[in-house]
Formats: sequence, structure tokens, C-alpha cells
Amino acid sequence: MNQVVQFGTMQMLVESLLDGFVSTKDVLSAGDFGIGTGEGVDGELIIIDGVAYQIDGEGQVHEVGPDFPIAFGNVHKGDFEFLKEYEDITLKELQDEIVKEVKTKSLFFAFKIEGDFDAVQTRSANKSTRPWPSLSQIAEGQNVFDTTDTDGIMVGYYSPKLFQGAAVPGFHQHYLSNAHDFGGHVLGAKLKHVKVSVQMLSGLDLRLPAENADYRAADLTQLDHLNAAIHAAES
Ligand SMILES: [Zn+2]
Repeated sequence: MNQVVQFGTMQMLVESLLDGFVSTKDVLSAGDFGIGTGEGVDGELIIIDGVAYQIDGEGQVHEVGPDFPIAFGNVHKGDFEFLKEYEDITLKELQDEIVKEVKTKSLFFAFKIEGDFDAVQTRSANKSTRPWPSLSQIAEGQNVFDTTDTDGIMVGYYSPKLFQGAAVPGFHQHYLSNAHDFGGHVLGAKLKHVKVSVQMLSGLDLRLPAENADYRAADLTQLDHLNAAIHAAES
């Protein structure tokens, strides 16, 4: 069973450690499906069949080159198994159904949701500049995008609660339309007719920015910021 490979931690984003410490080329060598964000939260990334796409802060979609720097990402070697088709269901309801089908909240798993969507809401931020701002400052400047009647693919991961703070707890998914004209970090969706595939993962292979001076020097012992961010994300 494959593992999810994660570059960086949720805590790093919360603590404004936003350097792109790994290149797209290196991320793609660890897997062919995934999600992530660029240096300085430079848009949202989705990796499909070994190709990395960026949805930038204005909602434009670009294929990113091998040297594009990545600040955070989850990736794995795709070997999905078809689960089920669903119709007329919200993303939240679908997530509950997926948990029922896989019968565990104790393992990491990847999922792919492909088909027709009645509505999708996403967000994406423009790249920040150094010194890196806080995530709440980035959140104020991010754009929210809505579309209706779109066909495309969501790629995402489920991370067990225990790993919150290292990973993003629970479900986390990004979207790309088949026309490559819409996408981003998914805030909500209404699904019309989709095919869901999942891939159970045996664990977490966590890659930290071992050579990054700011990461090494940062005080990551106080978890108050992180816990507040997790609480805010859950409320
Ligand atoms: Zn995201």
C-alpha cells in the first residue's frame, strides 16, 4: 500500500513559513496525484496524472513548470479504486458517505471525484511577498470563485484527526474543470452526477524543509497559533 507524501506541515503555513522549499519536479517524483500551494501561497495546485496545474489568485489556470517552488503539498502514486457513483448530493454529504464506505477514520486516504457538478465554490490567493504575511492576512486578500454547471475533477485527501497540525485534518480537496477555466481549493460544492474513486494509504511520509534556515530557526514549540487556526477552520 502506498503512503501519502507530504511536503511541509499545516503549522508551517500558520507560522508564515511560506518559502517554496521543494520544486514541482521533486514533488512529481514522489507521486502523480496531489494538491498543494506555491511559495508565498501562490495559488492552489492540483496534480492530475503527473501534470501540475496552478489556479492562480485571479482564478486563471496554468500548467506549472518543473522549477515552480512549492510551500506545501500532498502527493501519492495514484492507484485508485472505483467506489460508487453519486447523484444530487452536497460535498459534505458525499464526504460522510465516503467515510461510511471506507469504514474507517483511522487511515489516510486519497480520493478522486469526477463528473458533473451543479455548483462549486473555491478560493485562491495571490502570491504574497517577503516578509511573509500571516495566514489571516492572506485569507483577507484571497479571492472566492463560484461557478455552476461545470464538469471536472476533485482530488483530495483525508487525514486522521491525530495528525491535525502536521496534516490538514479531515477532508481537503482541490478542483479543476475539464475546460481548465475554473478551479482552486474547494470551499463547498453541489454534485450532480459524479464517479468517486478512493485509494487507502498506509501512512504519512512527511518531508520537512531540512535545509531551510527560517524553518530551522523558527520557534515551533508553542502550539497556540496552530490550535487557534485549527479551531477557526473547524468552526
Ligand atoms: Zn487547499
